[in-house]
Amino acid sequence: MEEKSLMEKIISLSKRRGFIFPSSEIYGGLAGVWDYGPLGVELKNNIKREFWKSMVLSRDDVFGIDAAIFMNPRVWEASGHLESFSDPLVECRKCNQRFRADHQDLILEHENWHKKRGEEVLWTEPKNFNLLVESYLGTVEGEKSKVYLRGEITQGVHVNFKNILNTLSPSLPFGVAQIGKAFRNEIAPGNFVFRSREFEQMELQYYVYPDDKESMEYLEYWKNERLNWYISLGLKKENLRFRMHEKDELAHYAKSAWDIEYNSPFGGFKEFEGIHHRGNWDLKRHSEYSGEDLSYFDSKTNKRFIPYIIETSGGVDRAVLFFLIDSYFEDKDRVILKLHPKLAPYKVAVFPLLANKPELVDFAKKLYNDLKLNLNFKIVWDDRGNIGKRYYSQDEIGTPYCVTVDFDSLKNQDVTIRDRDTAEQIRMPIDKLKSYFEEKINK
Ligand code: ATP
Repeated sequence: MEEKSLMEKIISLSKRRGFIFPSSEIYGGLAGVWDYGPLGVELKNNIKREFWKSMVLSRDDVFGIDAAIFMNPRVWEASGHLESFSDPLVECRKCNQRFRADHQDLILEHENWHKKRGEEVLWTEPKNFNLLVESYLGTVEGEKSKVYLRGEITQGVHVNFKNILNTLSPSLPFGVAQIGKAFRNEIAPGNFVFRSREFEQMELQYYVYPDDKESMEYLEYWKNERLNWYISLGLKKENLRFRMHEKDELAHYAKSAWDIEYNSPFGGFKEFEGIHHRGNWDLKRHSEYSGEDLSYFDSKTNKRFIPYIIETSGGVDRAVLFFLIDSYFEDKDRVILKLHPKLAPYKVAVFPLLANKPELVDFAKKLYNDLKLNLNFKIVWDDRGNIGKRYYSQDEIGTPYCVTVDFDSLKNQDVTIRDRDTAEQIRMPIDKLKSYFEEKINK
């Protein structure tokens, strides 16, 4: 049998163990849309929680916001999305498949596919195609108004700039972070959740003085902060790199733009998160289009100006995918997801050694219920199959610790803890479990 590729293994593990399913699968699915299952939602929530902790809770200079998905359509005129969020597409004259003109790797791949069949490919001239997804609000046919599902979460922050100034009176530099869904009518969704039509972003818009030197220093600062955040959660350093946008791919307003890229199994380094110096573009445009003054008054210098913006914009779904890929490990006959304990969907699994001995089951159930109440994270009960199978089953979904109750536990009030990565087992008194796990998981 042909060896499966790493991506095939990740996709099949995701489906089999409840991380990610094709959307509305019983109806044949919907291209570029995915559902997160019981394990996937825990992993995704953990990523978002860690983002929030590092970007908002642990800082004095960043606040959170949760703006709506529907926005006044003028927003998208001001942001330039209606005129320029259109990617030029080229169409293969042989089979009418369309590709983004800037996706050279996919275009080459497609040409090679035809070449193998002895066919020559001719491409159309690039044509524009708008990526914003349209919808209609209103109940009376003929009087409905067109709205767009937001194509990025960024604008929800900038249109609230004045509200943030009026309510919190923050001093520069300060930032506003947000996590939320975005929608794009992607031409070629693919590579599992890497490119979807509905996805989630986690972002920071950081407002700084409009000073070229200082703003560039903040750009450097945020590049490093974001790269180190991924590394601190276990992503291998050698699988991450920065790539600077060349002059011809830079948005006209951007002063400098970088991507954090991940070394994917589908064609090498791919965009993971953008770190952009957006100049004063967004606030300037929203001031012009809304007629509202979105400047900042600096009491130190008695000057009024529009700040510069440094943005960090990452994809939550890409993070889920890359954390899964990066932590996937095969050891002889077992698969281990070596996810950082903070990200693992389940932190601890509790088992009775034998499922048919009521005294063991009762004892283990009580312990499980106590831990569940006292630990501030997800733990799980498992009494199926034999102990070896349960260990392997938890390894495959990344559970860092398994606790087994055996006959000695009844006498000595202690249990066995088994470590996912080393498979080592230690004995631990029950009254020490809570502090042990809290220390291990939050380290
Ligand atoms: P790409 O060149 O891969 O299409 P982009 O440059 O259009 O990405 P941005 O607009 O900078 O992406 O969006 C910021 C982040 O949002 C990206 O780095 C990525 O993590 C995520 N993202 C963008 N588009 C998608 C998508 N279709 N599916 C999943 N995540 C996405």
